[in-house]
Amino acid sequence: MGEIIDVKKIAEKYREEIKNFIIGRKENDKSAPKAANIIAGDDGGSIYYLNNIINLYNNLGIEYENYKYGNNVKERDLLKIINSLNNDISLQGIMLFMPLPPSINSKTVLNSIWYKKDIDGLTPDNIGRFYSSEKCFIPNTPRAIITILKDSNIKIEGKRAVVIGRSSIVGRPVSELLLKENATVTICHSKTENIRQVSREADILISAVGRPGIIDSSFIKEGAVVIDVGTSSVNGCITGDVNLESVLDKASYVTKVPGGVGSLTTTMLAKNLCEALMENDKNS
Ligand code: NAP
Repeated sequence: MGEIIDVKKIAEKYREEIKNFIIGRKENDKSAPKAANIIAGDDGGSIYYLNNIINLYNNLGIEYENYKYGNNVKERDLLKIINSLNNDISLQGIMLFMPLPPSINSKTVLNSIWYKKDIDGLTPDNIGRFYSSEKCFIPNTPRAIITILKDSNIKIEGKRAVVIGRSSIVGRPVSELLLKENATVTICHSKTENIRQVSREADILISAVGRPGIIDSSFIKEGAVVIDVGTSSVNGCITGDVNLESVLDKASYVTKVPGGVGSLTTTMLAKNLCEALMENDKNS
């Protein structure tokens, strides 16, 4: 019988570290980390995510400013505020919530964030650095996944990893991180043939699809580690890609949804912000 990884406990460990880091700074008369949150429109998912981040920041002692705009915001207004935040030395991180209203060119606005303040790790500058192994922010969800594996003492090197999903925010960057950890990585997507068979070769199976319950025991090799990234809303409940009951008999370790990868993602955002502050200190 497989074990459900206690991701909340892992997240708690990093939150304590961040709290202590901020307390230490305050004791030495140094500033706390500070971030700007920019949200435009009324996307429910974004508002939910923003509220989670605000709760976390309040809990950790992180300072923040919120910039909230309606659906009719102009692209030039977003570019103007980002330009001013890029130049504001009192803050180290800028988080732009997606999706933006349809009238806005999201790529143009995202591209305008200075990569040194891109704590979400999604600007093209940061992504280019990430794939070139240069100093950069590691995107939060992939970083959370690798952290879960490492903190659970799951061996990655030499193992066969299969990632289902090839998005630029989860599937591709987590595959790159697994490769950097010396796994042998296969990426699957909606056009992959024999996906069950490919998945059954995985020592580590990561599902980032967004289809509730598509991964059942027929995808799992005996003893595999299964990381569920999917989050779909089913009758108002957050549901993962993995049918937990079905896979637990075969898998060695599994993450659940809710209470899995998502529990650590915002903590990784806060960690990126603290790292940006430390980098600033080094350069000042
Ligand atoms: P996405 O951009 O929609 O990508 C989904 C991927 O799944 C695509 O590559 C797609 O293939 C593939 N796919 C779709 N149906 C498939 C099928 N039947 N078999 C195999 N592959 C299939 O989504 P995303 O942004 O990567 O997010 C994925 C999931 O993770 C979502 O549920 C999202 O809400 C969740 N998420 C969670 C967190 C967290 O912190 N927990 C963070 C981000 C995202 P094609 O490329 O061929 O279309």
